Amino acid sequence: MKRRIALIAMLFILASCSLPQPPGAAAPTSQPTTTPEGPAPTLFASPSPTFSPLLTPTPEPTPQPAEQASHPSYNLEAVFNYYAHTLAVTETVTYTNTSSEPIPSLVLFVEPNRYAGGFTLRSLALSDAQPIEEYTLSGNRLEIFLSLPLMPGQGMALTLGFDLFLPAIPDPSDATRPMPYGHTDRQTNLVDWYAFFPPYIPGQGWLWRQPGYFGEHQVYEAASYQVTITLDLAVPDLVLAASAPAAQDGKTYRYEMPLARNFVFSASQQYLVLSQQVGEVTVYSYHFPYNITAGQAALWHTAQALELYTRLYGPYPYSTLTVVEADFLDGMEYSGLYFLSRGFYDLYDNTPFGYLTIIAAHETAHQWWYGMVGNDQANEPWLDESLCTFSERVFYENVYPDLEFGAQPVLDWWHYFRIDYYEPGGLIDGSIYDYNGFLPYRNAVYLRGADFLQALRQQVGDEVFFAFLQDYAAQKAYQTAFAVDFFAILEEHTDQDFSTLLAEYFQP
Ligand SMILES: [Zn+2]
Repeated sequence: MKRRIALIAMLFILASCSLPQPPGAAAPTSQPTTTPEGPAPTLFASPSPTFSPLLTPTPEPTPQPAEQASHPSYNLEAVFNYYAHTLAVTETVTYTNTSSEPIPSLVLFVEPNRYAGGFTLRSLALSDAQPIEEYTLSGNRLEIFLSLPLMPGQGMALTLGFDLFLPAIPDPSDATRPMPYGHTDRQTNLVDWYAFFPPYIPGQGWLWRQPGYFGEHQVYEAASYQVTITLDLAVPDLVLAASAPAAQDGKTYRYEMPLARNFVFSASQQYLVLSQQVGEVTVYSYHFPYNITAGQAALWHTAQALELYTRLYGPYPYSTLTVVEADFLDGMEYSGLYFLSRGFYDLYDNTPFGYLTIIAAHETAHQWWYGMVGNDQANEPWLDESLCTFSERVFYENVYPDLEFGAQPVLDWWHYFRIDYYEPGGLIDGSIYDYNGFLPYRNAVYLRGADFLQALRQQVGDEVFFAFLQDYAAQKAYQTAFAVDFFAILEEHTDQDFSTLLAEYFQP
């Protein structure tokens, strides 16, 4: 171990002597309760144009999938007290049973309820203001019992009133896992801050999952969002970063987000903002004042990754992509926005040989693998994480094709630094509950997962491999993909035998 650390340190020194100017220097533009007998829901056939009087007409922001009407739609109105770390929220969500079977009860994720005193449900009603009394709320699960099942094709609307009291995010040095939700002295992050539906899969039911000790457990149905955030008190210099661009009117911020896995935002009085255009998409970096150079590099690398993955995997669906310097460990992806730990910014050495660049490439790839193509993050985490770790390789291959680390080609460096150094083992297709600790989980799912995809690529060749990935993204866009879909679509592109690879990387 010591020898390796010494070797890596030496290579860093060698590399920093021979490197060209950091890409970050490429001038971005500066800018500033419980019985099964519940009330009968108000049911109606859907989709239909009169489906929801609760929604106001919205402009068409970015390309939208045709079947948007069948997806849930969230209307969130929040009054945010930045100083008190509280939000008072009214949420209306319309939901249509698009499955082929009757749904007897509704299940939603309520992540803020995992924190003691963090979530107070003030009201729960059907859209006609009929209160719902037959429900249970426990941990991150809200279940509403229907007296009549929601039939295929039928829709309904729920209104929830609740108060959030945000937890303090622990200092990264005291943390063992990323904790995006809550506040620090520098920033307040609202992620998974409202009740949301998991996908409902016939034969499986709701893909609600309980938290694990590591990894992410949330499974998201793609939905559209209208969000209004009003500041309770004016906050000098407060800057909001969000999944979508804001229309600001004084203390009120309005957002429209077309089909996405979630809507998140982050607020700070310290953010500096940079932007860079990639085609029709504006990429934003929100970072702290002491990390300007690293903030420029995060922006530039995110823009490069966006341009590359758009070409390789397919169009990016939103008008903005935002990277936010995180006052917590690691990185975390959400639709249209991702967080990147300030630890990576602090360690940035003006070269792409570090985690700032690696994780920017990784998190940007989640816009396709997690965002566009949803998956069961708890039971099949390899399906998005292996693709995003593999995308790091593709990033270096394309953005830095001729770069060397010392005398090493950049890909050799990446593979040693990111994968071989950890001597990863384990089968890649376990759930987040299966592995004996974070490192065995990360090593198998992320690291060996990336190796599996590279081996698959080598077996079928680049042309077939990337055509398959594009097709997989297109066929499963705004849906939930499973491993069986991954392999079924792969088989549409090749008749090769993968039994050797499957035996090496997957459970029998
Ligand atoms: Zn990831």
